[in-house]
Amino acid sequence: MSEHIFEYAPAPESASIVDIRPAYGLFINGEWVDGTDGRSFKSVNPATEEVLAEITEAGPADVDRAVTAARTAFETVWGPMPGRERAKYLFRIARLIQERSRELAVLETIDNGKPIRESRDVDLPLVAAHFFYYAGWADKLPYAGFGPDPRPLGVAGQVIPWNFPLLMLAWKIAPALACGNTVVLKPAETTPLTALAFAEICRQAELPPGVVNIVTGAGETGKALVEHPGVDKVAFTGSTEVGKQIARAVAGTRKRLTLELGGKAANVIFDDAPLDQAVEGVINGIFFNQGHVCCAGSRLLVQETIAEELLERLKARMTTLRVGDPLDKNTDVGAVNSAEQLEKIRTLAQIGEAEGATRWSVPCRLPEQGFWFPPTVFTGVAQSHRIAREEIFGPVLSVLTFRTPAEAVEKANNTPYGLSAGIWTEKGSRILWMAQRMRAGVVWANTFNKFDPAAPFGGYKESGFGREGGRHGLEAYLDV
Ligand code: NAD
Ligand code: MN
Repeated sequence: MSEHIFEYAPAPESASIVDIRPAYGLFINGEWVDGTDGRSFKSVNPATEEVLAEITEAGPADVDRAVTAARTAFETVWGPMPGRERAKYLFRIARLIQERSRELAVLETIDNGKPIRESRDVDLPLVAAHFFYYAGWADKLPYAGFGPDPRPLGVAGQVIPWNFPLLMLAWKIAPALACGNTVVLKPAETTPLTALAFAEICRQAELPPGVVNIVTGAGETGKALVEHPGVDKVAFTGSTEVGKQIARAVAGTRKRLTLELGGKAANVIFDDAPLDQAVEGVINGIFFNQGHVCCAGSRLLVQETIAEELLERLKARMTTLRVGDPLDKNTDVGAVNSAEQLEKIRTLAQIGEAEGATRWSVPCRLPEQGFWFPPTVFTGVAQSHRIAREEIFGPVLSVLTFRTPAEAVEKANNTPYGLSAGIWTEKGSRILWMAQRMRAGVVWANTFNKFDPAAPFGGYKESGFGREGGRHGLEAYLDV
């Protein structure tokens, strides 16, 4: 809603394609069932604060039912099934996702707050691509480099966050099923709707009952799932804090564990970089998905000689970002996912000012209802500032400068995290020199936030361990 020379007419995507039920049960053993203790919570649209649906809160008894269903399905149907037969189901799921992608994109935008342009053009195509990719592996596991007959682990308990609800579901479920495991998945409490729609897709695909089970709830439900003794493998994506709790809970058991946690990525811009492209990369790196991205380029490291010019161009570009109705096809920055997340962003931004950094926010009118934060940049940031060290998980960029490549490496790696990094330079040799020295799972060169199901993704240090995506992603779900 910022002021523009040419004001755009509203271009809202119609929400009539989605059919949200007033209340949802749990998806266990191929059926919709009620929770045993009758508890529920609400999912809201963060752009309007409108209540979307009543969601069942699964208790320990429900989690136990789901794990038991997954165990039976693993032992009787899915585990013994030849890979080429499992592949057919995964291909069918991938095609159904494609067929229903408009509906799923609208549903994701309504429940999460992300712009329809992103859910339609990024999330949904990647979700379908992930299922297609792992469908292709299901009958080729003997050629994946893990021995002639790699075996599945059994029942996977999977817990995912709210920032890419259906995409994180795909990253978890597609490789697990391809390898012959069955799953119990818990979506985040603020964004359960696309996971529940996915349950319907499993029914449409005639997936055998119990192969995929969806239990909704918050932290307590997640805890009951990861601590359930019938779970063979725990896969978690979320905060480093909860990741550490899970690591402690799983230690000493025979459960396998992969953790995909937070990040504080450096986007490093050298003086020979093509500036306008670099500015686009910075924008995409931190304002994509309102900055609710674990691999967001939240620390901009810019070479001192070009810092002033780059910042000028960056601010000019930021003022053209359209903040507002996520369902509008012209919107670039949507709503913050929840009141709690908005509070966290506001607090860290205040701390940034209190610690002496200079704040600049895009002058834009924000909607009255819903949860909103303007695209913001902090300059004069020191490495010791909390906004340079902690994950803000919002549309807030911290800018630091450097003089030499060695200093850039030093500063980029000066973080407890290590999920991703970006390098902007014309020199190929410098890209390789930098990439070798970055302690980060993914290093992008002259681009940012590029994803492909064939490319492994994961962290160093407190960003977690294990890889998702690609051939590497199979290892987490095989007994190797
Ligand atoms: P969160 O850790 O609070 O919640 C993530 C999930 O864990 C939710 O489903 C939640 O209900 C569940 N949960 C909460 N407490 C639990 C417990 N004690 N035991 C088991 N499950 C529990 O994080 P969030 O606020 O939902 O998500 C934001 C965080 O996730 C950020 O720090 C971000 O960096 C991280 N993240 C990482 C990746 C990645 O791939 N590395 C991707 C997306 C998000
Ligand atoms: Mn919601």
